[in-house]
Amino acid sequence: MHDILPAEIWRWQRLEAAFIEAATLHGYSEIRTPILEPTDLFVRSIGESTDVVQKEMYTFQRHDDSLTLRPEGTASAARAYVQHAVQALEPISRWYYLGPMFRAERPARGRQRQFHQAGCEIFGDPGPTCDAEMISMLVSMFVDLGIGELEVSISSLGGPETRPKYRSVLLDFLRPKAADLSEHSRARIEVNPFRVLDSKDEGDRAAVEGAPSILDYLSDEDRAHWDALKTQLEALEVPFRVSPGLVRGLDYYNRTLFEISSSAGELGAQNALAGGGRYDTMVEDLGGPKIPAIGFAMGLERILLAMGESERVVEPSCFVVPMGEKATIDGLVLARELRQLGVRVDVDGRQNSLKSKLRRANSSGARVCAIIGESEIETGTVQLKDLLQHSQEQVPRDRATRIIADRLLGSTPRAGGND
Ligand code: AMP
Repeated sequence: MHDILPAEIWRWQRLEAAFIEAATLHGYSEIRTPILEPTDLFVRSIGESTDVVQKEMYTFQRHDDSLTLRPEGTASAARAYVQHAVQALEPISRWYYLGPMFRAERPARGRQRQFHQAGCEIFGDPGPTCDAEMISMLVSMFVDLGIGELEVSISSLGGPETRPKYRSVLLDFLRPKAADLSEHSRARIEVNPFRVLDSKDEGDRAAVEGAPSILDYLSDEDRAHWDALKTQLEALEVPFRVSPGLVRGLDYYNRTLFEISSSAGELGAQNALAGGGRYDTMVEDLGGPKIPAIGFAMGLERILLAMGESERVVEPSCFVVPMGEKATIDGLVLARELRQLGVRVDVDGRQNSLKSKLRRANSSGARVCAIIGESEIETGTVQLKDLLQHSQEQVPRDRATRIIADRLLGSTPRAGGND
């Protein structure tokens, strides 16, 4: 679990702003849910046999309740959807969220125990149009953020007709291979054979090579959904790869499943930036009505690694250096006037030497430094130092606010000032 210090927060804010803008443009509204939920919510929605539920949840007992720090956002969103009977308010809901998630995983580059996800959920739309739009929104956002070498993998997990059919075909394939599988995968064959395909173990991967593809067993309806998704992604010019082996770590998915990874930047092995899919039965499983849904989550830490270094855009600001008691009072007033016009200001009110205050002004990144000393108070003036052009001029105090604001903001400072 990491601190994020002010020196790096601007990169987070830039990413979050890009996400919020993309989500807003696509009609999503923000939802904020508690970071603690009843443990049972995650067990029921994410699935008993998943790594997340078996090994990674931060769970504790308080009075008679077992509570868990949320390991992901979808279960909470679906819980909120059911609890507030949102389907009675609107036929389709588009939500986005942003915040910390918690999984007790082995930390590695791009894998933390507290990490941050941003995600979107759509309730009430069976797709596949909204599925295609969701994937396309993510890809455009990553491209806009300058992330290259993107790979979009898609698959379909089918629905209630396809799944049992494929499950039995998969069991016929896996059972004779049980001896070649890791102990972990062997234990899962009967419980959740789909999981075996998702194993990271090298031996397991070799053993499941040539496994039957679920895409060959899709029911007519599932196939129509899958074909339309591909056609629409092509129309939106989203390059994708069909990956029938894609399973992902959570059990609740059906039909559309997708993952976006990048081999750019400093990602290394943890190169999945975002993943998602349909979860058409979760709302009903949580006690709500039959409402189809789809969602994705993206990992902010990994996206920041993939974005690499970028130039920090510093908004122009003014540094006020008053020398002496009267000048300090005037410096405070000048700063307030400037802020009313929308200028960012730092006042150095310490009783230090002019030299040390100017040193701070220079390293502050400010464009303009306003120096007020005793002689400026006497003559009703301010010294304006341009820290970029290294020039200095004396301006009348009663025009100083407007001159500084014009220089930093152009000639149309924010309305509402009273200089
Ligand atoms: P998931 O919720 O497992 O579908 O993961 C969605 C995305 O969240 C992944 O593609 C990662 O970008 C990110 N993610 C998942 N687990 C972690 C973690 N432990 N640390 C950092 N990012 C993570």
